[in-house]
Amino acid sequence: MKFYNLKENDEQVSFAGAVKQGLGRNQGLFFPESIPSFDNIEELLALPLVERSVKVLHPFVSDDLSESQLKAIVTDAFNFPAQTQAISEDRAILELFHGPTLAFKDFGARFMAKCLQAFSQGKKITILTATSGDTGAAVAHAFHDIDNIEVVILYPKGKISLLQEKMFTTLGGNIKTVAVEGTFDDCQALVKQSFDDQELKETIGLNSANSINISRLLAQICYYFEAVAQLYRQKGCGALNDIVFSIPSGNFGNLTAGLFAKALGLPIKRFIAATNANDTVPRYLQTGEWSPNETVATISNAMDVSNPNNWPRVEHMLKTGLVDKDCVSSVSIDEEQTQMTMIQLAKLGYISEPHAAVAYKALQYNALDDEFGVFLGTAHPAKFKEIVESTLGQPIGLPKELADCASETILSTTASIEFSELRAYLLS
Ligand SMILES: *Cc1c(COP(=O)(O)O)cnc(C)c1O
Repeated sequence: MKFYNLKENDEQVSFAGAVKQGLGRNQGLFFPESIPSFDNIEELLALPLVERSVKVLHPFVSDDLSESQLKAIVTDAFNFPAQTQAISEDRAILELFHGPTLAFKDFGARFMAKCLQAFSQGKKITILTATSGDTGAAVAHAFHDIDNIEVVILYPKGKISLLQEKMFTTLGGNIKTVAVEGTFDDCQALVKQSFDDQELKETIGLNSANSINISRLLAQICYYFEAVAQLYRQKGCGALNDIVFSIPSGNFGNLTAGLFAKALGLPIKRFIAATNANDTVPRYLQTGEWSPNETVATISNAMDVSNPNNWPRVEHMLKTGLVDKDCVSSVSIDEEQTQMTMIQLAKLGYISEPHAAVAYKALQYNALDDEFGVFLGTAHPAKFKEIVESTLGQPIGLPKELADCASETILSTTASIEFSELRAYLLS
């Protein structure tokens, strides 16, 4: 299968090309030329995670990877579970934070790192990525110590939690980190400018590991299948109401992957894209006007994005009928509601963090009585220790992954939002 540029449709590349290039000409996103349809969904759902994921992903990557190569990559990348947990009669959380950096981004970043390693053929590559918190850690850990790949991670200085910062700035080696004196959108803009700079791009073999990279999104399709498989197994598929996924959204990569899963035939009724105060999408769906505001800092900081870079893919799927145009709604949840919801979930016996709470609250607003609501747990509560403890008034323990890096030294450099400064750094 080929992937084409959504802005410049004549640009077509193989999966390997799309993974290596990241973005197409004129900053266009790559998109699969066709969506395979599976008519044996029940059989797929009966398989274990790795076997099923190979079947789901193979049509997308078959130009470049044999089934056995893909299986080796998937086995290595998905070496931790995606786990559904019942919250109440008609609500469950899909916990995606059991990987090495305790956030769902481990799935995509690890899959991408293994793919890129397979495709790089010993050529030097520089991964440049912007993070609003969790991408940095997932990418740093996924690529740490991989030969010939250098990683540069930009993040907004002082706008992510200390533990989040420690998870990716303390590794050293091939992982370089830059604290930018600006917002996440500024960091994202610097990444885009770098990709527009042909000379820079070629000199350092530039690649992005952001959720604009199609490999990350393809990997994320697999846990939607896993969630539905687990729910069917627990409840029996006849006994289960229509499934609605509520997705805490920032760059809308998770939503894009969910829509792919639906387009592939997975029985999901619809999606709720839950945002914090950065509500460009809910306002857009209501008014038809795309008018991003300044990014505001919230307690669900991985979603502090006002110009989500995956939206063109979502829009494309809705407009071209790959999914039903009414299958996405969007709700913005404010800070007070988020904290109230964390308390409400704790009363139900579930300790959550702000991102999951935003998604749970959106279900309470938006799900119908005859729908079964699954919300994504995108990060481990310990990653947001300060806000979880102050909201719930109780201490929570640190899992080993976090405790290990808490005492390490931050190795970042600081930079302004001037592109020339970053350019010089990258070339040095
Ligand atoms: C990245 C992230 C999100 C947002 O996911 P997108 O795919 O960018 O919409 C939500 N929650 C957490 C914890 C994250 O790290």
